[in-house]
Amino acid sequence: MATSAFLDPSTAVEHLATYERADGLSVAELMNSQVHGGLTYNDLLVLPGKIDFAAQEVSTETRVTRNVVVKTPFFSSPMDTVTEGEMAIAVALLGGIGVIHHNQSPSDQAAMVRAVKRHENGFITDPVVLSPSHLVEHVLDVKERLGFAGIPITDTAALGGKLLGIVTNRDIQFLSPSTPLSEVMTTDLVTAPQGITLQEANDILRDSKKGKLPLVDKEGRLKSLLARSDLLKNQNYPLASKLPESKQLYAAAAVGTRPADRERLALLVDAGLDIVVLDSSQGNSVYQLDMIRWIKQTYPKLEVIAGNVVTREQAASLISAGADALRVGMGSGSICITQEVMAVGRPQATAVYAVAEFANKFGVPVIADGGIGNVGHIVKALSLGASAVMMGGLLAGTTEAPGEYFYHEGKRVKAYRGMGSIEAMEQGKPIPPSAGSGKQSGSGAANKKVQTHENAATSRYFSESSAVKVAQGVSGDVQDKGSVRQFLPYLYAGLQHSFQDIGVRSVSELREGVHSGKVRFELRTASAQVEGGVHGLNSYTKRLFA
Ligand code: GDP
Ligand code: GDP
Ligand code: 5GP
Repeated sequence: MATSAFLDPSTAVEHLATYERADGLSVAELMNSQVHGGLTYNDLLVLPGKIDFAAQEVSTETRVTRNVVVKTPFFSSPMDTVTEGEMAIAVALLGGIGVIHHNQSPSDQAAMVRAVKRHENGFITDPVVLSPSHLVEHVLDVKERLGFAGIPITDTAALGGKLLGIVTNRDIQFLSPSTPLSEVMTTDLVTAPQGITLQEANDILRDSKKGKLPLVDKEGRLKSLLARSDLLKNQNYPLASKLPESKQLYAAAAVGTRPADRERLALLVDAGLDIVVLDSSQGNSVYQLDMIRWIKQTYPKLEVIAGNVVTREQAASLISAGADALRVGMGSGSICITQEVMAVGRPQATAVYAVAEFANKFGVPVIADGGIGNVGHIVKALSLGASAVMMGGLLAGTTEAPGEYFYHEGKRVKAYRGMGSIEAMEQGKPIPPSAGSGKQSGSGAANKKVQTHENAATSRYFSESSAVKVAQGVSGDVQDKGSVRQFLPYLYAGLQHSFQDIGVRSVSELREGVHSGKVRFELRTASAQVEGGVHGLNSYTKRLFA
């Protein structure tokens, strides 16, 4: 009998490892632009690995700036149709970071930062306090402005005063606004001594069945406050992006790089800002370099996300000026016409890989900004070295985005516009004398004050002094996506399943796998892209999650 021409099947794994080359391409082979040119996310795929864990075990925790770690790699864009206070709070609760846009007055933007910081707390160290001589109407006013009505009462109407009672929602229901608080406050109080740990204080609050727990010193002076609703928030949002000590949500906001932006930033910092995003379509400018250095000197604790960049050279300037993270992308956004109009930009997969590969050597994380259309794009950005992604269009159709839904050709939609669109650049401009009622508008003095702030969009595209505004974005609408409270958990679960397919349990394992050549890639030809999409059906419905 002839011996078998085949190898022993039980040695297949060992044989592959010893004698055969690994399937697919390493990331360096994939991204060899001299061979393939610049790539977009759709030009590549990640090859599957081995599954030996459940998808729920996958951690998407990631370092998004030098000093900030969050549990999901999601940012919402600083655009006036994407991120205001409501979006910023929701994204932070769900584990990412929402960057509040600056195409609005500094005081409006600061109020949004303050709302994010007030939303969840451990010890509330600056609670609103009133005195017995204040009236029910004062409590109603706080409720209207800040959203809560649980207010400690001290003799001085301030923190540090002697605690005399507490007023809560139920104490003031059905009462005349002119009733003094001395008549309605609860004086039989459960308190806790200043200096106990948050955990101990939470236990007392839980056992007391009260809504608030005032913390007092030995003389009975109010030192801080704890809210029961925060225990629930902590339970309901286990991924929330919070500062380790204060348990407050991280607040991020965008500013430009003009002198007026320094004043804007001062207001934002005063409101509690943790992360500032320097919003520019081409970040490698002397203005931005000066701004980074100035911020690092003036507010050393503030994390600075600089950008945008798409090359190592741009990145190197910003890193040496002190950037804590880089935002990468030029012309890849869904509303963007920069590459078409300016002939400048870079395909996004190549940009992310080139910049991340360089920046990660210095411990500076990269945020892949623009062109994220689905979970797969997020996985690819992370595989190419990004620490997080920033999304505009994908989130603009959610309930938490600014603006109202309307119907367009039978579909429920919300407006979404590029910050470089003419519409965004004209936001807040003085109304021309000929506009409006048709009345003579006199000397024009009245018109001058219509603009309440310098336009953020023009500065992003360096066109504030141009007579002709050249658009770099379009204005349109996107379909209703429901609430981010369902949509972000879908992206998160999708990421976990994708990581499971790749065979990595965390962002750092993915990073190591790509670096060592264990995680492999494949280029995707045009026909492969057709094959990878739905094809050959007469009709179908595409529901992304249930
Ligand atoms: P974890 O939140 O339980 O994962 O653990 P941490 O170390 O973050 O929290 C320590 C203690 O603070 C625990 O008793 C938590 O329940 C509590 N805690 C966490 N977040 C908050 C919050 O936002 N508010 C309050 N009051 N307590 C919190
Ligand atoms: P209330 O019962 O009307 O006071 O409201 P909740 O207790 O439901 O919610 C209060 C929320 O606002 C909690 O998440 C607090 O952390 C937050 N908060 C922020 N600043 C303050 C403050 O000065 N006083 C109170 N009572 N809550 C604050
Ligand atoms: P999207 O997630 O919609 O694909 O892209 C959002 C990103 O596009 C934003 O975070 C921002 O970097 C960029 N962007 C916003 N507006 C404009 C614009 O008008 N023109 C260009 N070129 N980019 C824009």
